[in-house]
Amino acid sequence: MMIVMKAAATEEEIQSVIGRIEAAGARAHPSRGEEVTVIGAIGDIEHIARLDLEGAPGVDHAVPILKPYKLASNQLRGGERTVVEVEGRLIGGDHFSLIAGPCTVESRDQLLSTARIVRDAGASLLRGGAYKPRTSPYAFQGLGQEGLRLLAEAKAETGLPIVTELMDARDLEPILEVADVIQVGARNMQNYPLLAEIGRSGRTTLLKRGLSATLEELLMAAEYILKEGNPNVLLCERGIRTFETAYRYTLDLTAVPVLKELSHLPVIVDPSHAAGRRDLVTPLSLAAAAAGADGIIVEVHPDPEQAICDGPQALYADRFADYVELVEQAAAVAGKALSAVR
Ligand code: PEP
Ligand code: MN
Repeated sequence: MMIVMKAAATEEEIQSVIGRIEAAGARAHPSRGEEVTVIGAIGDIEHIARLDLEGAPGVDHAVPILKPYKLASNQLRGGERTVVEVEGRLIGGDHFSLIAGPCTVESRDQLLSTARIVRDAGASLLRGGAYKPRTSPYAFQGLGQEGLRLLAEAKAETGLPIVTELMDARDLEPILEVADVIQVGARNMQNYPLLAEIGRSGRTTLLKRGLSATLEELLMAAEYILKEGNPNVLLCERGIRTFETAYRYTLDLTAVPVLKELSHLPVIVDPSHAAGRRDLVTPLSLAAAAAGADGIIVEVHPDPEQAICDGPQALYADRFADYVELVEQAAAVAGKALSAVR
């Protein structure tokens, strides 16, 4: 923490700040400039933060040196990046992961046919919601337990690990039986008890950015999971709300390099929920891959016109292989290769 004193601060006020820092068990390093004195406080960040020096006499402001999300932060890792392994698939580093599948599990046929197609085209994980966060309480809420059973069957048949959403901590146990990656939806990004529960489970988590969350809020949410001893967190940019109304959400691709600068955690992009429209999904995916994303989570359906939810944004399953080829080229621009099974 750097404490910047006011230009008019007296020697007494400077000494009082130094005294409070030292009393908290930290070291104080004053440097006296021509205009102002700046005091560096070195030591336990929590102790120093609790000193509440912002309001102290003679203090202008305090600048934290360490990020508040210390586990998610890149600061103390010497450039080392997290590479998450899910059933032999590597996510992060030089690997580019494609997570593909339907928005929601609708039927055995729909899920299995999609799973086979995306696996053959090079996807490394299968997505599909059994519990769906819907804006309307009257809309289809997912197949629940039956959806989980079908996901387990799709995994058994295709070998693809499963990504599925947990909305309610009461469903954690059955979800843990099926999910290789637990998805936390945008609307639950700040559901802190849910994040802590998932953290304690130790299961790899795909944490989606809230609709109006800053990157710091996203990283603080990740911190809730990491703090419980679960290091396997994937950050996901899925579009945020802006003043623009021409499309559903604004896919914040600036977040990709910035998150990678701030954090060591892999960054996944969801172009489907950002766009809400199929024709935007390919260009946004290419841009995300070229920007250095560690992977994409994308919705695919064998018959989008008949989909129960998010049909307009689902890629046609029978054209998915062409899409993968394009995305693979864009990922190569950023130095990444499609993640293969080890
Ligand atoms: C989803 O991926 O199924 C979903 C509902 O996404 P989001 O939480 O980003 O809206
Ligand atoms: Mn969806």
